[in-house]
Amino acid sequence: MRLFLKLKKLKVVLRELNKECYADISQRVVDKRKELDDLQLQVMMPNVDMDVKLHLSVIWKVIRPFACKVDWNRVVWCPLYIPRHSFFSWLALLNRLPTKDRLQSWGLVSEVTCVTCSDGSESRDHLFMGCSYAHIIWKELLLACGISRSPTDWLSEFTWLIRYGKGTTLRSVLLRLSWNSFIYWIWRERNARLFCNAFKVEHDVLALIKESVRIKVLDTKFVVVNSSTAALCSSWNIG
Ligand SMILES: [Zn+2]
Repeated sequence: MRLFLKLKKLKVVLRELNKECYADISQRVVDKRKELDDLQLQVMMPNVDMDVKLHLSVIWKVIRPFACKVDWNRVVWCPLYIPRHSFFSWLALLNRLPTKDRLQSWGLVSEVTCVTCSDGSESRDHLFMGCSYAHIIWKELLLACGISRSPTDWLSEFTWLIRYGKGTTLRSVLLRLSWNSFIYWIWRERNARLFCNAFKVEHDVLALIKESVRIKVLDTKFVVVNSSTAALCSSWNIG
């Protein structure tokens, strides 16, 4: 009986002790979590004042890697861009598409003949500019943008594009969209020939490019038909 009473008393004491230990436990967890978050931020951003209210934008600016601004940014990632086309255009610009010359340098293929002209080695520079197939298509696209010039090589053409494809005029928008779409559809045609034995003539690919650009421009309601844009609107069947 005595032992029973002692145990009962012990139980009461333990219960009180537990109450004390777990009082405000949820608030203490929240406080400790905030303490841990602050500590992590201090490690990640030692130069930022922790007393200032932090916004996600501030944190993003601190943790993201910074790189120099590039002059081709507005050509590839222009405001009205078509994501899929711009992505391939970006890969081509960085020369990261698996063209045959690159595959050969990795020892993956031995044959590098261009599949669109069968006359030349496939490289980024050849496929998109040196090749007679691409040359015809790009020249027609320039004409559709009201520009009469004969493209020479990849570097000079892209340098020209950076210079003349700037701005928000209808012509510059069409020019940038045409370029990115041109890269995408040429690459697609190359893959269709290589892997599916399916061929399209230049005129068909040109029509696909023009339709992609036309739909995008119409979709954005960007076009205002006036005396200075009438010719372009007629050429692209927009407005
Ligand atoms: Zn070729």
